[in-house]
Amino acid sequence: MRRNSITILKYLIFIGFFSFIGHLTIQYSYKENSDRLQINDLDYKSPEVTTIEMEQQKTGPGEHGKSIRLSPEDVAEKRRQLQSEPFSPYVSDMISLHRSLPDNRHPDCRKKKYLSKLPNVSVIIPFHNEYLSILMRTVWSILDRSPPGLVHEVILVDDFSKYCKEPLDSYVKKHFTNVRILRGTERLGLIRARILGARNATGEVLLFLDCHCEANVNWLPPLLEPIAEDYKTVVCPFIDVIDRETYNYRAQDEGMRGAFDWHFDYKRLPITEEDRKHPSEPFKSPVMAGGLFAISTKWFWELGGYDEGLEIWGGEQYELSFKIWQCGGMMVDAPCSRIGHIYGRHSPFDHDGKGNFVDKNYKRVAVVWMDEYAEYLYKRRPKCRTVDPGDVSEQKKIREKLNCKPFSWFMKEVAFDLQNYYPAVEPTPLASGKIINEDFTHREKAGRFTLQPCNDKISLQKFEYTFRKDIRLATKHVNCFDVSHSQDEALTLFGCHGQGGYQEFIYSLSTKTIFHPSTNHCLDYDSESLELFMKPCDKNISSQKWKFDNIDEAEIKKILNKEQ
Ligand code: UDP
Ligand code: MN
Repeated sequence: MRRNSITILKYLIFIGFFSFIGHLTIQYSYKENSDRLQINDLDYKSPEVTTIEMEQQKTGPGEHGKSIRLSPEDVAEKRRQLQSEPFSPYVSDMISLHRSLPDNRHPDCRKKKYLSKLPNVSVIIPFHNEYLSILMRTVWSILDRSPPGLVHEVILVDDFSKYCKEPLDSYVKKHFTNVRILRGTERLGLIRARILGARNATGEVLLFLDCHCEANVNWLPPLLEPIAEDYKTVVCPFIDVIDRETYNYRAQDEGMRGAFDWHFDYKRLPITEEDRKHPSEPFKSPVMAGGLFAISTKWFWELGGYDEGLEIWGGEQYELSFKIWQCGGMMVDAPCSRIGHIYGRHSPFDHDGKGNFVDKNYKRVAVVWMDEYAEYLYKRRPKCRTVDPGDVSEQKKIREKLNCKPFSWFMKEVAFDLQNYYPAVEPTPLASGKIINEDFTHREKAGRFTLQPCNDKISLQKFEYTFRKDIRLATKHVNCFDVSHSQDEALTLFGCHGQGGYQEFIYSLSTKTIFHPSTNHCLDYDSESLELFMKPCDKNISSQKWKFDNIDEAEIKKILNKEQ
């Protein structure tokens, strides 16, 4: 891979940046906060805007974060050629390592000014069998889009990859001066690979990234400023989505707060009303997503780094998040820092004979940090109760030494609304059992619902109408009634997300209709096919009248008060 003309342009931008610094004292005055730059000269273009404009000029495959679409023949041919190789690296090779991305930040971000003095960073990227051009695009995006002087070094931790050795070494040697590769002598797993990187890092801030990312415009200052203001603040970027087949770059959403349910699946909570008023300002978040965050080196080691007893993958984001908060730190998401991430290319991991490592990891987190709340996790994950967590005395010592607060404090002050969405004790359902329409009851059938004769022995005829206003299949509790946009508003089953929307249904005690606010329609069925659909509401037709086996009228009245 050779440098292209874009690299030269990049250097021109940097030169432009230096000359801008030279002008600072003449053209701009420092006001109020003496460290914060204020722009008086309207003609001035910041290096950030210059970069955006330069990027807009670029043309080529995948530029501006656009999809690469191959013909089905090309795909079939490539699949044949590559055989065991995953397909998407071929697409990655078609895209410039310096490709442009859309500036999808909130418009206020362009106006933001950051402290003129920020700490420098060691960027730590563990990788296990990552493809070269994906890894190098990650590194270039970091270097291309960071103000000079802030990236002290990039540390690539090769976690016993089967490939990506010699070509990586020579590429790095040829192109970079501040990129290092570390290699363990055995498979470390993601957590210990990050620790190895951190031990070798000499920057003031540790910035962890996955090996398949693209850092977007001016991503770095928003991650560093909150740390410059308080070294115990940990900062996460907004994570954008890079499609693993087409490399399309898009926003996931406009941000949410990180959380978990009591299976320890990562979940998200809405941003508070107050935080929504300042869409470009960092907001507090209870739990990090895990892979992408910045923490001061000092605070990371005061917290004892990660628990080294955590194996391979899983639970480390909870361990670090809980101890950051409980031991006197803070965690925020910075909306003006956006980093794209390719999701789901690697799982499931080869376990390397480590067995049930996820439950063991969770148990370690639970016994050290969660106090009496651990019980709620064990209830949902019985294996956690019995698995041996190993020696956790070091972790408990840290908790004691730093005089960390109890988990009940975390739940009350930090994850204050988590229980509204993911209650530790599931409230009894508003209604449950079969959902009966006259002589029929419906059940799941190949993703569609049809009415079927009632049969108490069929578990797929048992439902629960929960306090979230969703209707769940009682046996699994992870699948909910949903409505398909594409199939004439047919009733379908989809993973429960607990966030209302298409999974919200309002049962009326008086009319017996099941109303679906998102479509403004009611549950009905087709008398020929017996399939279930949403249809315009008509409280007078019997095909829209439903009853549950068991119903808690008082609870329904309480929760659905307004809607009755
Ligand atoms: N990783 C690693 N060793 C492992 C597993 C993962 O170094 O045993 C790296 C992986 O290459 C990636 C990061 O850790 O850079 C996070 O893993 P992944 O992206 O697969 O997790 P996900 O993003 O799916 O949660
Ligand atoms: Mn990843």
